[in-house]
Amino acid sequence: MAGKIYVVATPIGNLNDLTPRMKQAFEEADFIAAEDTRVSVKLLNHFDIKKPLVSYYEHNLRQKGDYIIQRVLAGETCAVCSDAGTPCISDPGEILVKQAHAAGITLVPVPGPSAVITALCVSGQDTGRFCFEGFVSTVKKQRREHLESLVHEKRTMIFYEAPHKLLNTLQDFCTYFGTDRKLTIARELTKLHEEIRLTTTGDALAYYQENPPKGEFCLVLEGYTAPPQTEDSLEDLAQKALQLIEDENMSVSEAAKKVSAGTKFSKSEVYKAVQQMKD
Ligand code: SAM
Repeated sequence: MAGKIYVVATPIGNLNDLTPRMKQAFEEADFIAAEDTRVSVKLLNHFDIKKPLVSYYEHNLRQKGDYIIQRVLAGETCAVCSDAGTPCISDPGEILVKQAHAAGITLVPVPGPSAVITALCVSGQDTGRFCFEGFVSTVKKQRREHLESLVHEKRTMIFYEAPHKLLNTLQDFCTYFGTDRKLTIARELTKLHEEIRLTTTGDALAYYQENPPKGEFCLVLEGYTAPPQTEDSLEDLAQKALQLIEDENMSVSEAAKKVSAGTKFSKSEVYKAVQQMKD
């Protein structure tokens, strides 16, 4: 009978966030697939768990994935974890989970910290609808396409960023989203120097130009809100209708219908105003 795969989240800084279920999954596993075995061994040592480790990281995903799947199909149980947080979230695991589904292997989630949700819940931004954007690519074209696609995104957006790339990303945020967009910078979450700064894109850029960024960062960006429409007066609408009559040879009735659509004035009110102007 095939074994199963535990997908185990681990703390993003504070080891007290390790839960009894995480420990149990590691203990039950025959082997642990870890992103960096040197990082995971420290966590496992801390909890006195001794298990064989298999390295499973960005550059061996396919080949190691096949190997893990074969072992699980042969009856072993695997616990997969990343260096910190939840596997598959900007971390290895996604391909293994897909391979496991294809092979009919049982997957057991062992939930826990993920920087995206940890940052969002203290961000002070709208949490009803949000989207996770991960890291912005450093490849120019992909970066531009990604940011352009978000210019009118209404949901709160959460990004991951490395400290040495933060200034560039803040610069681009100012370019694509303006300097007044609300931005929460969540730094070193659950760690000694945890910091949650609710600011704006422009102020964040100015701040980090003066104070070189250090540590791990999550950026929670306010969604787009369309600028309020200025309401046309009846006279403005009549002017617009006259323009249409002149430029597009519309009848008064057609023009009044067109310009009154979506306004607080009815077609007949605009019609009368146009007639008065004409007289
Ligand atoms: N799988 C992880 C998760 O579930 O959060 C994310 C891994 S990704 C490779 C690492 C990025 O997550 C960091 O560059 C940073 O943007 C964010 N991150 C991880 N730990 C963090 C922390 N303690 N505080 C703030 N951001 C963190």
